[in-house]
Amino acid sequence: MTATSDPRQVSGGCLCGAVRFTVTLPTLFCGHCHCTMCRRSHGAAYVTWLAVVRSQVTIDAGQDQLTRYESSSHGSRSFCSRCGSSLLCVSTRHPDVVDIPLAAMDGPIDRLPEMHVYFGDRASWTVVGDELPRLGGPTGLEPTG
Ligand SMILES: [Zn+2]
Ligand SMILES: [Zn+2]
Repeated sequence: MTATSDPRQVSGGCLCGAVRFTVTLPTLFCGHCHCTMCRRSHGAAYVTWLAVVRSQVTIDAGQDQLTRYESSSHGSRSFCSRCGSSLLCVSTRHPDVVDIPLAAMDGPIDRLPEMHVYFGDRASWTVVGDELPRLGGPTGLEPTG
């Protein structure tokens, strides 16, 4: 799929509906993150993120409900202060990119999950049966045995 093949827009939002946003395709990435911060902040085995250029994300409603939490020295996570849904993750390591949970989107995007990242940090009770690449190591993106 080429970068310009799918200029659709896909909307998304939080559980309560206060925060609404629109993502303009194409996305850059979609994958499952097994890092401990994702697991804890979402209360889930792992989080399926999409990544998109920041300028392709528009907050349509609820900007004032978005609360930002500095989850590390280089990253922050924004959530709906009304319902608690985790929504946006940004990092100073790639300031032009926003990560958004695929589960927050109203419909399919332009790709399916392509890999597991931070796979070595996965919960001991997480069993993965798919054939996607499993990346890990300090960056979360290195090949694992
Ligand atoms: Zn909400
Ligand atoms: Zn993560």
